[in-house]
Amino acid sequence: MTAQRPTPVFAPVVPRTVVVIPGDGIGPEVTAATLRVLAALDTQLDFVTAEAGGAVFAKGIKSGVTQETIDAIATHRVVLKGPLATPIGKGEKSANVTLRKLFETYGNVRPVRELPGVPTLYAGKGVDLVIVRENVEDLYGGIEHMQTPGVAQSLKLVTRKGCEKIVRLAFEVARSEGRGRVTCATKANILKLTEGMLQRVFDEVAPEYPDLVAEQMLVDNCAHQLVIAPEQFEVIVMTNMNGDILSDLASGLGGGLGFAPSANLGADCAIFEAVHGTAPGIAGQDKANPVAQMLSAVMMLRYLGRFEAANAMENAILVALEEGVHTADLARGKPAVGTQGFADAVIARLGRRSDTWAVRSAQPMRFPPPTSPAVAVHAKERTVVGCDVFTEWGGTAEALGHALEAAVSGSAMRLLMISNRGTQVYPATGGAQTDAVDHWRCRFVPRDAAAPVTDAHILELLARVGGTCPWMHVEKLQVFDGVDGFTKAQGQA
Ligand code: NAD
Repeated sequence: MTAQRPTPVFAPVVPRTVVVIPGDGIGPEVTAATLRVLAALDTQLDFVTAEAGGAVFAKGIKSGVTQETIDAIATHRVVLKGPLATPIGKGEKSANVTLRKLFETYGNVRPVRELPGVPTLYAGKGVDLVIVRENVEDLYGGIEHMQTPGVAQSLKLVTRKGCEKIVRLAFEVARSEGRGRVTCATKANILKLTEGMLQRVFDEVAPEYPDLVAEQMLVDNCAHQLVIAPEQFEVIVMTNMNGDILSDLASGLGGGLGFAPSANLGADCAIFEAVHGTAPGIAGQDKANPVAQMLSAVMMLRYLGRFEAANAMENAILVALEEGVHTADLARGKPAVGTQGFADAVIARLGRRSDTWAVRSAQPMRFPPPTSPAVAVHAKERTVVGCDVFTEWGGTAEALGHALEAAVSGSAMRLLMISNRGTQVYPATGGAQTDAVDHWRCRFVPRDAAAPVTDAHILELLARVGGTCPWMHVEKLQVFDGVDGFTKAQGQA
């Protein structure tokens, strides 16, 4: 049995040393430019360089991260990282995913802000928001199975503890930046248990932050609102996949990839990096825009409590942009500076403040320990009230229903209903026009409704069902403290 890790409690650390991973493509250039600005500031930080990505894959290390790098991160816990290339089709893992999973950086924080002199579709509206995305759970566990040759399944796992951590992170980001509102965007109207978990935990945690307005929004409406009136948002918290998609959409509301910073925060580690990739087309040409990486370093300085240095760096970047110091991506035909030229311009402006653009004042983030138990959430009472057996069957619903009823006749369980892709098809409900496939969810309940369902009942049921058609997975229908831990099929009474 593996040892349980203690409950991760996000506790900002105050280390003196930052691990720098220059990365691939334009990574070393934008990182060098950023380090030059950091060196010109009084940060009282040391920087050690570590390897990940292309050079490590080239050594035959399939994770893309060396043990020395892992050790350095485990020791120093704060990373400034350049983008990493993932070789395609040679069995290598994404080095980014390796780092994210190794250090459980559960929160992806992406600010999107209108910047002076940076044209966007929304210039003048004052877009200034932060997306807080859960970074490790949800569909990204990558637990997938082919159920039949033609039906694929992916497990969407959402945990109470994971929701509590990301919701608190969102409220703490809002509070630390002096913001007024946090929006929880979910698909809880359809995914009542998984997305609903984030929605419920958000409502439970919100009263701990009475100074902040907490609002719920459906994520599809959130996508619409982000496009028509993005200035209404301050902080938006989402599950992993929704956050993945909408944080990229949000990057487009600002100046685009060259201007989008991010932080990956966990209990043991924080990784700061630009949102963009390695941009191989412009690598090694001193053309890359270093602003995203520089703004990621500003986030890092604030995380480390170096507020003065962070403000100085952000102000100097704002003044440089305001005065028209632009790299080629922004200059669009006008004279442009190179990556290092931009760093020179920022260094030359340290100590100056923009007259028109203010940096956000920031406070340290504090994290109360999660109230969820470290590992297991216990119900006082739990009952198994039935069982869903997923089967493969090439015939009609009617024929499957009759065959299964015959198969379980005389046993403790009876067939309650069959659904196909979520819609009840047996017994037939009036008017449902289901274009059925060969994957059926067959729901069984005890004949004696008051009798508990035991594992022996389920094993006998599987043997009987298996004599009729192949089954590929089984779910117990559980009730925890009187609340159904399963959903009904569309059309089920
Ligand atoms: P990309 O972000 O590298 O490039 C997309 C476009 O934006 C290109 O036209 C590029 O030239 C431009 N661009 C990106 N950053 C820029 C900058 N700072 N200045 C000026 N122009 C910039 O995305 P991609 O092409 O899809 O990915 C290339 C590689 O990067 C892939 O191997 C991918 O896996 C990797 N990647 C890594 C990360 C990461 O490490 N966090 C993130 C995204 C992509």
